[in-house]
Amino acid sequence: MSELYQVKVPDLGDFKDIEVVEVLVKVGDEVKKDQSIIVIESEKATMDVPSPESGVVEKLYVQVGSKVQKGFPILSLRLSEGRAAPPSPVAAEAPSAPVAVSPSAPLPKAPPPAGISVSRRVRLAVLGGGPGGYEAAIRTGQLGIETLLVERSGPGTGIGGVCLHSGCIPSKALIDTAHHLHHVRELEERGVSVLGEIRVDLKKLQQWKRGIIDKLRSYIEQAVQGAGAKIQKGEGRLLSPNHLEITDGGKKEVVEFENLIVATGSRAIELPGLSFDGKTVLDARAALDLEEVPRWLVVVGGGYIGLELGIAFKKLGAKVTVVELQNQLLPGGDEALARPLARRLQQLGVEVHLGAKVEKFVSGMAHVSKAGSTFEIPASHLLVAVGRRPNTEKIGLDAAGVQVDPKGFIPASEKKQTNVSHIYAIGDVTHGPALAHKASAEGVVAAEVIGGLPAAFDNKAIPAVVFTDPELSYVGMNDAEAKNAGFSPKSITVPNRGLGRAMAAGESEGFARLTYDENSGALLGAALAGGPATDMIGGLGALVEMGANIEDLSLTIFPHPTFSEQAMIAAQRVAHKKK
Ligand code: FAD
Repeated sequence: MSELYQVKVPDLGDFKDIEVVEVLVKVGDEVKKDQSIIVIESEKATMDVPSPESGVVEKLYVQVGSKVQKGFPILSLRLSEGRAAPPSPVAAEAPSAPVAVSPSAPLPKAPPPAGISVSRRVRLAVLGGGPGGYEAAIRTGQLGIETLLVERSGPGTGIGGVCLHSGCIPSKALIDTAHHLHHVRELEERGVSVLGEIRVDLKKLQQWKRGIIDKLRSYIEQAVQGAGAKIQKGEGRLLSPNHLEITDGGKKEVVEFENLIVATGSRAIELPGLSFDGKTVLDARAALDLEEVPRWLVVVGGGYIGLELGIAFKKLGAKVTVVELQNQLLPGGDEALARPLARRLQQLGVEVHLGAKVEKFVSGMAHVSKAGSTFEIPASHLLVAVGRRPNTEKIGLDAAGVQVDPKGFIPASEKKQTNVSHIYAIGDVTHGPALAHKASAEGVVAAEVIGGLPAAFDNKAIPAVVFTDPELSYVGMNDAEAKNAGFSPKSITVPNRGLGRAMAAGESEGFARLTYDENSGALLGAALAGGPATDMIGGLGALVEMGANIEDLSLTIFPHPTFSEQAMIAAQRVAHKKK
């Protein structure tokens, strides 16, 4: 069998969004090397794009009117016998930053690939049943669009996605339990003594957790089906821009779709030399399924997932060490938020090594290098939480002509369209924070765009939440981001030290910070540390989203005594000073 080769738009100079004015070949045509295949036209010139190889056109990804740029797929060529695919003209220098997306003009429906019979046709297929996919399916169902939600299900996943089965929900079940346990131990100075032993039965906790997951999965399935969408179990793979093969065990079928939403999510990144074995070298999913508290846990990565789980296991009785490559916890995040967290980790007895790297894990020892020296940390378990990788390699994006960046993310426009206009991408497979509520919000946007509504995704106020001790959250811009955006930012920070509710709760670590524009008073962002910071940020996000100003917030009556009133107090400090 001869090789299939995707011909892409070569580097023809500095242009973007250039229009295809002629398509000189069609599916089935034999093309010679250097033969012109399309003509593109910019304001300055008209150019022929030649084929780099000889072969037969198997698929066409563009039509007259498509807008293209360097690297966009033009067609797939079945190379003439004996020819090997030349290196891609753009792969070697592809950018790592997000690529701007110019979705193609609507394409004619692709015929089914040769020898494939289509078992049914749907208006929309949604690939992946996580918070992105199921919210999209619920919304398209509500809009009366015939929708098929395809979810492979399996260990750590199913309808509800990573979030329900091995992320947000199980981690919070563990964190909450650990928090209560630790809180009881801390009540001694308030006159509460625990006379017996407090025992932790992680097996029982796992059963309880599974009960929650099952209930939530069933609620989500009811919501999807109640909205009129259908759920199909199986692993999906694109065969063409309009055909999805679904495999479930030995069964295969091909569905033809008018629109597709890709919502296949992400998985933990594995480090060389520290391969996950599910027993001692763990990703978050395996750590959340442990039936015994690890004796010595080394957390590789000081991001939010590693710290949330590390603190929970510490409170449940493990000895915990965090090793982070960067010189800051929550690398890339707000330094001010990392500070109270670092203090609390110290109080809790969690050892932290910044600027350090776990090189290998041998015979119960984590070998760590730091500033030119090496040392060892005893470890019964390693939790590797160094980021997540999008699930985009095995779903046939190439066959549909969907562009992927060098890190595997799918560039998507504000309407969540990929470069192929009827294929959408949402959630962890796209750029932006890997958060469930961002995936869901994008799912609703994609659904409404498909439904013909004027929707677009606006990332002005995506709240970030960290369920550590203290809890942390932020929304909108911090000072540096606001300055870059052209504002005259000012911020006010009020520590929780003097807050009545915080003192009564024994949680006076933390603060509320507001960022506002000095000229207009517009509230640009907020950050919270301590108390129920993850619950409170939604309300502040609504204010940022609505364009409220600091005075609006200062005039809002908040309940007392609460952690939430700290935002009002901060706003009053600014507003009252001005008068
Ligand atoms: P996913 O939830 O990953 O869902 C994708 C789905 O697609 C999966 O069900 C998968 O089985 C399915 N799938 C993949 N390939 C195929 C295929 N070929 N065919 C069929 N189905 C397929 N986010 C928060 O907002 N708050 C939190 O507190 C939080 N805590 C987290 C804690 C942990 C430990 C982890 C790991 C993550 C956490 N997240 C949290 C992140 C959150 O889980 C993700 O951002 C969210 O699940 C992304 O949603 P998604 O729909 O894009 O993808």
